[in-house]
Amino acid sequence: MKPLHDMGVAELGRALGSKQVSSTEITKHLLARVATHEHLGAWLSVDGEAAVAQAHAADQRRSGGEIGMLLGVPLAHKDIFVTRDLPTTAGSKMLEGYRSPFDATVVNKLAQAGTVTLGKLNCDEFAMGSSNENSAFGFSKNPWDTSRVPGGSSGGSAVAVAARMVPATTGTDTGGSIRQPASFSGITGIKPTYGVCSRYGMIAFASSLDQAGPLARSAEDCSLLLSAMSGFDERDATSAQRPPQDFHSAMLSPREGATAAQPLKGLRVGLPKEFFPAALATDVNGAVRGALAEFEKLGATLVDVSLPRTELSIPVYYIIAPAEASSNLSRFDGVRFGHRAKRHGDLLDMYKKSRAEGFGPEVKRRIMIGTYVLSHGYYDAYYLQAQKLRRMIADDFQACFIKCDVIAGPVAPTVAWKLGDKGDDPVANYLADIFTLPASLAGLPGMSLPAGFGEGGMPVGLQLIGNYFQEGALLHAAHAFQLATDWHSRAPEGI
Ligand code: GLN
Repeated sequence: MKPLHDMGVAELGRALGSKQVSSTEITKHLLARVATHEHLGAWLSVDGEAAVAQAHAADQRRSGGEIGMLLGVPLAHKDIFVTRDLPTTAGSKMLEGYRSPFDATVVNKLAQAGTVTLGKLNCDEFAMGSSNENSAFGFSKNPWDTSRVPGGSSGGSAVAVAARMVPATTGTDTGGSIRQPASFSGITGIKPTYGVCSRYGMIAFASSLDQAGPLARSAEDCSLLLSAMSGFDERDATSAQRPPQDFHSAMLSPREGATAAQPLKGLRVGLPKEFFPAALATDVNGAVRGALAEFEKLGATLVDVSLPRTELSIPVYYIIAPAEASSNLSRFDGVRFGHRAKRHGDLLDMYKKSRAEGFGPEVKRRIMIGTYVLSHGYYDAYYLQAQKLRRMIADDFQACFIKCDVIAGPVAPTVAWKLGDKGDDPVANYLADIFTLPASLAGLPGMSLPAGFGEGGMPVGLQLIGNYFQEGALLHAAHAFQLATDWHSRAPEGI
């Protein structure tokens, strides 16, 4: 058997099933790894004792005859999901010391499946960012090169998986926060269709865009996590009313007409020309093209498509997301949650000082932009206009899906940049979201899978986007690619 930290979710599930190893052993092994990798800044809280107790309980459930691929498998949650037994900060001083009275639905569902929670993971404050540099609790570093960002906002989630501290983590994706850190850190992540995972207990950033999803080392592992995390939840008004899905079976079920050598025979992969602009970094372009050639070998055909409003997705997203954030974040007033200013005058002054002290600069910037675009006199010019364009962006995708089954392209225009490089330039950060925002605005499922390496030996991700509720098809294509390639099983050296 290989070292326990090198094993993925499915491998651990099988080893647990055949009694080769216990959850307690795996948990202790991974906790030791977490302790030796503290310098990567991935964790905001770890509770080893509670994790070992959960592992023990999972082992007992197995001895009692219970089965299940996730029973006894350790994982960790982005610190944006509320948890009863661990603190929840959302990466913000505003929530320092906060304890939720309940667990998020996603957390609850995974616990029911028997997973063991090692702790909570670093992220950009309230999930606003693309580098994890907006966390109030310090940077998280890319294990492939610790002078670089791991991506964000689910940066800690990506680092913990990439550095083999845990086989899988949860993340959230509002405009790319699962796909981009997965890409930057050389792992696999999927953001399902809006509504597939419950948002109950996920601290709200932009409610019409926020989606939960897994980050892991393979499409197979993601499929196992996603099956357990997803499902209708009456506590989330936008939860999709669909029967529970087995994404693992969907991933495994062969395509009609497929052969052993050509498992993707007949799959039409659309390449939007706007996803391959002249400005795309040559290393990213090279790795993505290489992956696409592999898809062709597997039987897929590449077709040209167009998403003409790709560039507009940046202003559209950066109007809608801050607008929703300004409304969602109004609840943090120093009264009900978290931080309250120590010295203040009257009630209004208490609100002002608590918010001024509790929120970091990027969050404040977005609250101001959001409040502005929603204000009387500007609403029509900005917010309403952005909503109209959002619909057109979604329609553009539907026009593509007449010609293709999945859309492919890069996840980000470059590999992970150096820590501090875009730190004080918000617009530079926003521009790097160009390829992930369109699917978010349309509510479509998207995933990132390792496709090779670029400048500085940094990982490059391939993005696959499917039509609504086509997660199974995405995972199937990604799995076929991962059976034929080994990009996803590479590990950073010396980690
Ligand atoms: N980078 C984007 C932003 O800053 C997306 C973040 C996310 O998906 N949570 O808003």
